[in-house]
Amino acid sequence: MSFDPSRSVSQIVPAQVTYEGAGFLVHRPFPTPGLDQLDPFLLLDEMGPMELAPDQAKGAPDHPHRGFETVTYLLSEEMEHRDAAGNAGRLRPGDVQWMTAGAGVVHSEMPSAEFQRSGGRMHGFQLWVNLPRRDKMMAPRYQEIPRENIPTVINDAVTVRVIAGQSLGASRMINKRTPIFYLDVSLQPGAELVQEIPTEYNAFAYLVEGSAEIEGRTVSRAEMAILDRTGDRVRITSQEGARFLLIGGAPLGEPVARYGPFVMNTQGEIRQAMLDFQAGRMGEIA
Ligand code: MN
Repeated sequence: MSFDPSRSVSQIVPAQVTYEGAGFLVHRPFPTPGLDQLDPFLLLDEMGPMELAPDQAKGAPDHPHRGFETVTYLLSEEMEHRDAAGNAGRLRPGDVQWMTAGAGVVHSEMPSAEFQRSGGRMHGFQLWVNLPRRDKMMAPRYQEIPRENIPTVINDAVTVRVIAGQSLGASRMINKRTPIFYLDVSLQPGAELVQEIPTEYNAFAYLVEGSAEIEGRTVSRAEMAILDRTGDRVRITSQEGARFLLIGGAPLGEPVARYGPFVMNTQGEIRQAMLDFQAGRMGEIA
């Protein structure tokens, strides 16, 4: 018997179609009845993809978060965000916003006025990364990563956008509390990516386009393949061509208590979050 360092697929989870915010369509592999979380990840939403007519674009008006980080990555159109601390910004296709909610923030995530007026294609992602207990009540912060600052590595038939972590010799370090990597990978038909993954990380691939093969399992559009923990790399091929997110992180191994936009360690902390929000202690958007 020899040790095979390439990870296999332990589970394939199909995304569920649901509606978020003011009623925009998302594909959500988790949390769903089939998968509550993949420590340290709490949620993945694929916004759309959906073609929207003029005046049909919707967003997520003012709402709070506490206890984790949201990572928003747009593929098309533009979104505007505002928060109770007075931050405001615009996300363009390819841009990333990394928000650490920490002790609490009220923000809004809305389609740009132009997108609302003209319609267009809604497509992007939001990932929730849990914070360790020691950081859950840290001061909130935003980091905006313009697309120009996201390394894109093209290696023959493989293209990787390195949003966090490293791949094919390129790396992008972001100031984050929970160690993760986040890659947007495109494979042309017949291409292969071998990606190193720390052995202690949980990791998954989410198929955005096409299909891919991992150690004999085929993963299709809108499916999430959870990798097992038996190796320090994964080998992903695609016969027909594919685009997928490849994401991994170090599990926190702490208790998770969650209720909607609040993710803490205990139910008591969830009750306190609701009280703090109701009392206006997470602020409001002026
Ligand atoms: Mn939000």
